[in-house]
Amino acid sequence: MASLKDRVALVTGVASGIGRESALLFAQEGASVLCVDIDMAGAEKTAHEIAGAGGKAAAQRADVAVASDCEQMVAAAERRFGKLNVMFNNAGIMHSDDGTSEDTSEATWDLTMNVNLKGVFFGCKYGIPALRRAGGGSIINTASFVAHLGAATPQVAYTASKGGVLALTRELAVIHARENIRVNALCPGPLRTELLMKFLDTEQKRQRRLVHIPMGRFGEAKEIAQAALFLASDASSYMTGSEFLVDGGITAAYVTPE
Ligand code: NAD
Repeated sequence: MASLKDRVALVTGVASGIGRESALLFAQEGASVLCVDIDMAGAEKTAHEIAGAGGKAAAQRADVAVASDCEQMVAAAERRFGKLNVMFNNAGIMHSDDGTSEDTSEATWDLTMNVNLKGVFFGCKYGIPALRRAGGGSIINTASFVAHLGAATPQVAYTASKGGVLALTRELAVIHARENIRVNALCPGPLRTELLMKFLDTEQKRQRRLVHIPMGRFGEAKEIAQAALFLASDASSYMTGSEFLVDGGITAAYVTPE
């Protein structure tokens, strides 16, 4: 039996990368999916792809940094599909001007925090009452391996935002544990998605990151979608408050083999 049969999932950041692959996989596993992105054309494309494969999906534009957009996306999921069981707060940005504390501007810091951390807060703020109305559910917040390690390439705003996601996730997991609402963080390693490849835009920068990954390659968005499916489904029923690392071994390594 499909692991998300009769479930309703809301996924943010579906126009690309992890969000797109997760929306496709969740639908394949039986969920009705509200596909959310700031890029409406991209959200519609993913929703059409799901429908074309025989799944159920709808698209909704939302900027996760805007409270009213987040309130409306949750309302849209309930209106369209009758309930909400899975909330995947995945949308995120990595700003090209993010660097050390000295060269990162206040504007870059604020934008990164607003999307990556406040966006997750809003997803939980409006998503949790909906999950409660459905009798419980699963929240997955995308953090990153960089919340566990000091990185070779500085990006202080991004790293701090992801550390905040871990702390927020832990606290919400404890608060809602007796309500059948599970809250877990997903920590991907370096992936071959647009987000990271735009940041590591030269072969030299990519190699500098690759030397730290025991598996010797970047991960794929599809590999993270499988982990998100596990956290979304009852297969992870005893997990809450976790920091689920899917990272090619990068956080386990001190020195990687040649
Ligand atoms: P991506 O750039 O491929 O996709 C991100 C999506 O989020 C895009 O469709 C974009 O339009 C959307 N988005 C951006 N800002 C938004 C906003 N304000 N409101 C709504 N949607 C918005 O990125 P990805 O690699 O799939 O990353 C997804 C998540 O995974 C992010 O939170 C990212 O920080 C995290 N992550 C990525 C990596 C990596 O190496 N790629 C590693 C660890 C964590």
